Amino acid sequence: MDENSGDEPLPNGSNYHVKRPDGTWHAAQIIQSRLIESNNYEYYIHYDGLNRRLDQWVKRNRIICSPPSEAQKNSHKVESSFLGKFNKLDPQSPLAEVITPSNVVGTGENDRTITRNQKRRHDEINHVQKTYEEMDPTTAALEKEHEAITKVKYIDKLRIGRYEIDTWYFSPYPEEYGKVSKLYVCEYCLIYMRYALQYKTHKEKCKKRQPPGAEIYRKGTISIFEIDGKDHVLYCQTLCLLAKLFLDHKTLYFDVEPFYFYVLCEIDRQGAHIVGYFSKEKESPENNNVACILILPPYQRKGYGKLLIAFSYELSRREGIIGSPEKPLSDLGRLSYRSYWAYTLLELMRECRTTTQSVKELSELSGITQEDIIATLQSMKMVKYWKGQHVVCVTPKTVNEHLQLPQFKKPKLMPTKENVALLESSCRNASGKSFLDGVKHNSSIVNQYSITRYTPSEWHRRNEELFSLSQKVSQLSVKNENDAKNCMASNFSKTNRSQQDNTTRLSSRCHEIFTWQTNLEHAIQAQVDEIAMLEEERHRLKKSMAILKIPEAINSECLSRRCARPDSELIRDGPEEELLKETVLINDIRKVLEKTLEDIEVQQSENRAVKHKLEYHWSCKKEAYATDSVNRSLENSSGTIQFKPGATQSVADQSTEEFWNQFTRDVLDESEATRQKSIKLRGTLQEILVNATRDLRNQADTVEQMFQSRISCMDEVRTMLENDLSNILQKLADTETLISSLKDAIRNMDYPMKVSQTRLQNRNLYRPQVENCYDRSQVGLINEVGSLQRSVSELKEALKAAEDTQKQLIETRTALEAEIMLKRRTINIDKDRCRHIRTYFPSATALSGYI
Ligand SMILES: [Zn+2]
Repeated sequence: MDENSGDEPLPNGSNYHVKRPDGTWHAAQIIQSRLIESNNYEYYIHYDGLNRRLDQWVKRNRIICSPPSEAQKNSHKVESSFLGKFNKLDPQSPLAEVITPSNVVGTGENDRTITRNQKRRHDEINHVQKTYEEMDPTTAALEKEHEAITKVKYIDKLRIGRYEIDTWYFSPYPEEYGKVSKLYVCEYCLIYMRYALQYKTHKEKCKKRQPPGAEIYRKGTISIFEIDGKDHVLYCQTLCLLAKLFLDHKTLYFDVEPFYFYVLCEIDRQGAHIVGYFSKEKESPENNNVACILILPPYQRKGYGKLLIAFSYELSRREGIIGSPEKPLSDLGRLSYRSYWAYTLLELMRECRTTTQSVKELSELSGITQEDIIATLQSMKMVKYWKGQHVVCVTPKTVNEHLQLPQFKKPKLMPTKENVALLESSCRNASGKSFLDGVKHNSSIVNQYSITRYTPSEWHRRNEELFSLSQKVSQLSVKNENDAKNCMASNFSKTNRSQQDNTTRLSSRCHEIFTWQTNLEHAIQAQVDEIAMLEEERHRLKKSMAILKIPEAINSECLSRRCARPDSELIRDGPEEELLKETVLINDIRKVLEKTLEDIEVQQSENRAVKHKLEYHWSCKKEAYATDSVNRSLENSSGTIQFKPGATQSVADQSTEEFWNQFTRDVLDESEATRQKSIKLRGTLQEILVNATRDLRNQADTVEQMFQSRISCMDEVRTMLENDLSNILQKLADTETLISSLKDAIRNMDYPMKVSQTRLQNRNLYRPQVENCYDRSQVGLINEVGSLQRSVSELKEALKAAEDTQKQLIETRTALEAEIMLKRRTINIDKDRCRHIRTYFPSATALSGYI
């Protein structure tokens, strides 16, 4: 334990081990701290797993960080009540009567198996708090809210009458009273005070000695007063505030007029000391005969609770009603009621000595509702569900056996009907000041000696008149004061409640606005993303369109190149066909892409417009949220609040809440529709690009194939022509040889001719006369010349023929050579020009605009 670290308080929400009033150590959480003197804090702590009524303010020296050692555990063993501590200041206090169960702390040391019933009983007795998981969701939510409001119980101790009592729960006493650690309450008029001195003065001055209203029950020292909430508003309100200190779930504090309050008192010579009370709605649609019931801790476990319960049933019986307490019951309340019902029913069944009562009969006899009876009998296993009905199954033996058990013992106190009846038949003596009843006037005695002008009775009467006048005036003033206080209290509470309601409404409105704002934010983000994606697609499309210019150029260049083919080669061949097809395809694609680009641009501007709209609404929501956030946080102590005349007048063109909701929803729907359209468009574009690319590539491949087959075809032709040419060339060479040999032959013919001719000449010229004889030689010579001439002309013919052939061959060669040239040029255009160009045809990726 480190007591020296008093400068800084321990943080709220942290967990420690804390010594409980009975000396045991228990894990606990710090909820709140407060400064009690310089550098010394006190902490409000909640014990893990225990009911919140055991939450309390403790000093620093009861808190340790780690689990306690054995020595610490065993020191400071203090006797204490599990119901919280209270000290009777009267020396005759019977503290011994208070039950102190030894197993209060739910340490879970003994893990023996227990039945569910036992567990429930154990939990109820030991204040084990239900966890949120064990409740249904609505209850859990309400419970959480309730806890948040009533988390810290500032009033730690209540001083009332002879007792100083540890309080159990938070109670909404007005501000300056609600935060003191000890509150003083006058036990007769229930006025609450902050200071001991004030209390002392009040005790001396206070004339009241009993609750207001009529005493309607008296037996021995026990008395019950009936108080109409309408007649004694202040008393009833203070009673409710007092009760809240010991009740966890109680919502009624101020609106007391629709209720009767029945206050149970112990009477002694000093006066009527408040023990407990129950309230009851004047007109209860559910026939509730008890709204709230409480016995103050010092008086608990003495049978008073069951007395009040029995009394409430007695009242219902008189009204001819079968009543039931308002649900849900508190844990302690449930215990009391169960016990009361069980005992009453067992007693009834024993008296009747029959086993065939129906639940209905039991209800009529006991005044307890059928549901309560069924629940009670079920807990004792005395009822069965048979053919849609609950049937009581019990024997006199089991009844008697049950009555022997300690938990079904006869209540210590039960109201006797006669006592109620007695008090009811006598007039409801509201004042209760009965001492004057005994005074009798001896009015008829004449005092002859008397010369006084007034008789004693006259004197008394005058005094009494004066007294009564002063009493009346003082009563009037008290009434006025009470009325004024009531008025103030009720107005204060009304204003408070309405302000709280509006704060809640503003909060939920803020939440709503915030939700829409978040939705809009998400929509804006989605739109921004979509715009970015579409923009990317647009870029891609543009790129793809730019890339498309390359195939276009390649295609047109191929076509124009091929126009340069020689005339004879200008044929509409495969490549030509395919190139033309390609031109058409490219044109079509370009058109589609242009159209899509247009669509995308329109869509993009739509997207931007929607985004602006969303942003506009978002900023509107943001402003509205900021405004309502400020409004939500405004309170009476805020510095910015002012009178604003005319603030309630309605502003023109105010939208309705439905319109407001619908409007935002419409904007969101519109944005979503636009976005979906944009997404679809992107899909279309993707599809178009894929198809276009595929078609282009396919066409390009076809063109390529056509070129290839065309080129190989032309190559073949060219080869054949070249072969022919070489053949012709060979022939030409042969012909030339022939011609030259022919020419030689012709030339060689000259010599024999010359010989023959010379011979003839000589013989003609130089032979004299007769000698000049036409002899055989002459004939022979002449024949020879003729033969030689024929030979020569034959040779010349052959030469001519050879020369003709040579000429033809030369022509053919030229033609072939020309043709081969043409073919080569054509092949060159297709092979070296077109195909080279086509190697630059873009890839599919580039065509899709990805590069
Ligand atoms: Zn008083």
